[in-house]
Amino acid sequence: MGELREECGVFGVWAPEKDNIASTIYYGLFALQHRGQEACGIVINDDGVFTHHKDVGLVNTVFTQDRLDSLGYGNMGIGHVRYCTTGSNGRENAQPIVVNHIKGNMALAHNGNLVNSSELRTELELKGSIFHTSSDTEIISYIITEERLSAPSIEEAVNRTMNRIEGAYSLVVMSPAKLIAVRDPRGMRPLCYGRTPDGRYIVASESCALETVGAKFVRDVDPGEIVIFDKNGIRSMRDHCESMKRSLCIFEYIYFARPDSVIDGKSVHMARFRAGEILSQEHPVEADIVSGAPDSGLDAAVGYASKSGIPYEIGLVKNKYIARTFIAPGQASREDKVRIKLNPIREVVNGKRVILVDDSIVRGTTSRRLIQSIREAGAKEIHMRIAAPPFINPCYYGVDIDSRENLIAVGHSIEEIRDFIGVDSLAYISIPGIKKAVTSFLDDEDRFCTACFDGNYPTEVPDETCSCKNKFERKISESPKFKKEETK
Ligand code: SF4
Repeated sequence: MGELREECGVFGVWAPEKDNIASTIYYGLFALQHRGQEACGIVINDDGVFTHHKDVGLVNTVFTQDRLDSLGYGNMGIGHVRYCTTGSNGRENAQPIVVNHIKGNMALAHNGNLVNSSELRTELELKGSIFHTSSDTEIISYIITEERLSAPSIEEAVNRTMNRIEGAYSLVVMSPAKLIAVRDPRGMRPLCYGRTPDGRYIVASESCALETVGAKFVRDVDPGEIVIFDKNGIRSMRDHCESMKRSLCIFEYIYFARPDSVIDGKSVHMARFRAGEILSQEHPVEADIVSGAPDSGLDAAVGYASKSGIPYEIGLVKNKYIARTFIAPGQASREDKVRIKLNPIREVVNGKRVILVDDSIVRGTTSRRLIQSIREAGAKEIHMRIAAPPFINPCYYGVDIDSRENLIAVGHSIEEIRDFIGVDSLAYISIPGIKKAVTSFLDDEDRFCTACFDGNYPTEVPDETCSCKNKFERKISESPKFKKEETK
């Protein structure tokens, strides 16, 4: 519940004529803001001349009207919203990354995390590459430009790059003449494209961003697929398709994606609604009302109420003006921020037996504070139902799940967690239950990554000697090259 950080969002536009692409990208990024609130950027391509701006902050603060105007017109552009999962959160790590190489300009925006980034970075540094950021996206850009030296086209360079990078990546790549959408062979992060009535092609992390800019959804980019948009139309390279077992992050449905998005043919809202229905069947309890924790617990709460027959009520109100990057002045603790963000409606919960549905429990401290405020508003009983299984493992694929020692479900029984957060009963949806919720086909359940719940990682995982977020820097500092330089 608000304790997980999203990953990133990517967006790209190809237009048949030179146009005001920057404002389209602005609105697209605005629709993807939930995927990253720390930094954002836009690159516009005007016949091979790239103009860009990126900075830390939300889309509507980084891009004023003057700033958008300064990007000028073009016939292609890409954009990015960022939450850092590797690298620091400084301006230097904002995306898209723009490089000038011997074959021309290239811009790149990335959602996901590589699991072999430290090996690749060391390999590149030993060949003379000098990095300006600590993000793994720069590694991808170096590999593409290296491959481009011998590849006949930028798309072939991307194709060859996919043989070398391992992990989760949805990319938009822009060359002087082409917009390219790429999804890793496991399809771990979503990516789709659509078309506007005036013939523009739009690539986006989520379908909600297509609709925001007036585009009609065409289809998801398939796992392993490279889709190329240029003056000759659209074409696809599929050398990496079907090469690996699909492993879409199941948490995209539970928490990250917007409920009005459709990912790989499944509605995010309906997946959450069905999770609530299944939760009510797996863990029924007598109560007077069902409420959801805003925002991502709401859809499951409606599903729980619908299946159980217990009335759904709006029991909590969220302050709409609180940004994810909200910094409380003074020493407000994580728990105090819950009070600023969410407030119970006394008239709804007073004297009631309340079922509170939420999307997850990470550390448990925010849940505890929330429960306390509902009790103070007069709830007679509180039964918490969680629309995700307990977190017991970190994520290596672009989601900032805390290290194991901070996950309350590691080393604590459900009864101990119930006691800690102060509810009358606590239950989580099962792993088969959540898989069933996101797919209509039983034989299809094997196509998701569920590693943070069951430890079944779809790739080899990096050595877990430190938390996900600083593993990258740690491994770099331990590399032989780094050590050698330190002794100079
Ligand atoms: Fe998603 Fe969890 Fe897999 Fe990470 S480990 S990709 S959060 S399901």
